[in-house]
Amino acid sequence: MLEVRDLDAYYGGARALWSVSLDVAAGETVSIIGPNGAGKSTIVAAVARLHRNVRGRVAVDGVDVLSLPPHRICDRGVAIVPEGRRVFGHMSVRDNLFLGAYRRLARAGHRETLAEVYALFPRLAARSAQPAGRLSGGEQQMLAIGRALMARPRLLLLDEPSLGLAPIVIDEVFEAITTINARGVSVLLVEQDIDRALEISARGYLLTEGRIIAEGPASTLRDRDDVRRSVLGI
Ligand code: ATP
Repeated sequence: MLEVRDLDAYYGGARALWSVSLDVAAGETVSIIGPNGAGKSTIVAAVARLHRNVRGRVAVDGVDVLSLPPHRICDRGVAIVPEGRRVFGHMSVRDNLFLGAYRRLARAGHRETLAEVYALFPRLAARSAQPAGRLSGGEQQMLAIGRALMARPRLLLLDEPSLGLAPIVIDEVFEAITTINARGVSVLLVEQDIDRALEISARGYLLTEGRIIAEGPASTLRDRDDVRRSVLGI
């Protein structure tokens, strides 16, 4: 589904990624874990074509997407839930969701998709006419995920969905991610919360200082002390 090969990324003259390679198979949930500033967000931004100062290969279903303009990546079935949610606070919950359905294909069935999103997150249905800015942090995270789902993606990129949320709310969000994956959407998850991320993933990659230094089945990575030390900085 997703193939990243020898990806280098730069911010001006500063290098953020060194030859990163990773895969997400169809139907799989894969995590990128690592400490602050490791380059995790840069990987998902590169795949979503939001960060374009990159070299290497990023292929979705075998098609190299690095030459595509950002809006075309959506047509390839990729949607991103950015770090910090980035919902439009003055707009209603429903209008925020419709913003995610701008792909032609998604627009055609947007009412059915909206019903699916509301079934997944009943709290959004209850607040559909309210300004998104009035939602709690957890509800805004659900809205950001719902907005991405409105594009009917086959690959969902999630950047730190647990950030700033209470443990009980994180449980809800991660349960929803599991449900989304069970419905056939592949997931690439960036997280600092290693336990939660690896719990719902088949495989994981450990990124530090822009390099992948460990990878493997989630259950194996979870039990490795060196992995925990790297992420937690102890
Ligand atoms: P976090 O969990 O804090 O978001 P991360 O693992 O996602 O960390 P990135 O945000 O991808 O890491 O950052 C990787 C490196 O690139 C860091 O050293 C960061 O300082 C740098 N960086 C990120 N964004 C920019 C930017 N807009 N301009 C310059 N440097 C940046």
